Amino acid sequence: MSNQTFIIVGASLTGAKAAEALREEGFDGRIVLIGDESERPYERPPLSKDYLRGESEREKIYVHPSGFYEEHDIELRSGTPVQSVDTAGSAVMLAGDQRLDYDRLLLATGAEPRRLELPGDGLDGVHYLRAVEDSDRLRQRLDQGGRLVVVGAGWIGAEVAASARQRGLEVTVIEPASLPLERALGVELGAIYRDIHVDQGVEMLLDTGVEAFEGQGSVDAVRTEDGRRVECDFAVVGIGVAPRTQLAEAAGIECENGITVDEHLQTSVRGVFAAGDVANARHPFYGERIRVEHWANANNQGPVAAANMLGRATPYERIPYFFSDQYDVGMEYSGHATGGDEVVFRGDPASREFVAFWLADGRVLAGMNVNVWDVNEHVQELIRSRLPVDAAALTDLDTPLDSLVGEPAPES
Ligand code: NAP
Repeated sequence: MSNQTFIIVGASLTGAKAAEALREEGFDGRIVLIGDESERPYERPPLSKDYLRGESEREKIYVHPSGFYEEHDIELRSGTPVQSVDTAGSAVMLAGDQRLDYDRLLLATGAEPRRLELPGDGLDGVHYLRAVEDSDRLRQRLDQGGRLVVVGAGWIGAEVAASARQRGLEVTVIEPASLPLERALGVELGAIYRDIHVDQGVEMLLDTGVEAFEGQGSVDAVRTEDGRRVECDFAVVGIGVAPRTQLAEAAGIECENGITVDEHLQTSVRGVFAAGDVANARHPFYGERIRVEHWANANNQGPVAAANMLGRATPYERIPYFFSDQYDVGMEYSGHATGGDEVVFRGDPASREFVAFWLADGRVLAGMNVNVWDVNEHVQELIRSRLPVDAAALTDLDTPLDSLVGEPAPES
């Protein structure tokens, strides 16, 4: 039996999946999984969707059933903030000068919401959404109905707006960009999502930011930069997240837009790994570092980090993937388009049943299927092939997508 200790800091999806994989891979040493939240590891996608709307039970959010960690001899230390990491001494420090020595360390510290620092930001009823308690508070608030202002039309803003409308609330979204989800999806898809929300009765205030929250004790209005006063009963702010690099930075581990790691998810310090939202990882397919803040990346990087902790050199090379459900519109996105790329549609976007492709030099960089299923694998194959594709065939519903994989475009 191994007398080694592997410590994982961050008991969320990435950390829990890494711990599970260590045992699956046969590691029989000590595993300590440390998290500052009091809950056992859970998944965040339901927190802005079905769980928020009260449509699914709490038990469904957890990564593992209760009892899993004990059964697998994983020491889960919830509610335990790590104070510091001593890389020279290979130890993690907890409160009360408690020291835990490690042989390998995984930092899966995730990300935290950016805060809007504005007049009135401390009023009751100004919510952020990251942890399950945040979702619980909001869920209760949705039960009471009323008027909601959502600040930021990114993923949290879009999904919370949809959930609140589905629960019958009045919703106004305030976003400084010209379109919702514009940074993630570009203008073509941003416009489609704007229309989806407007059709569902959401008021979209675009091209303007928030100047202040107003109210006595609790928020009753939001003032916008373009001079409007939007009355509300509560507000949700979703203006992005920042990677939680504080521990790593204080320990002298290289950080730049997250903790920088190589394709084996190893940091600048040997034996110390990082994965999930916090990791800015060199991606072998793209030949550059990318940091991905989505569920699939958290889910899949954990096991790869575990393999590398065990010395089995395993590059993380999955194509980025995420999904979203808003109203009756479900989508999956694969790839890494950087904006300014050509967008073509397979199917009519107005029907809200289509696949969008982002192309550069005739090659597929990314694809997003909306209410069309079982195509994601082909989208990923097209991306991986790096071959130019015939745009006319790509957008022709009668040409099966899989027939285009590996088929270079005809010479023009
Ligand atoms: P996000 O998706 O990065 O979007 C943040 C949005 O807020 C952007 O539209 C941004 O506009 C806008 N914004 C920035 N500063 C603002 C300001 N001062 N006032 C108003 N709007 C402002 O972040 P998020 O929605 O907060 O989500 C948090 C994290 O959870 C992200 O990592 C996200 O990927 C993840 N998440 C993912 C899903 C999913 O995969 N389905 C669902 C929920 C959450 P600019 O882009 O123009 O700055």
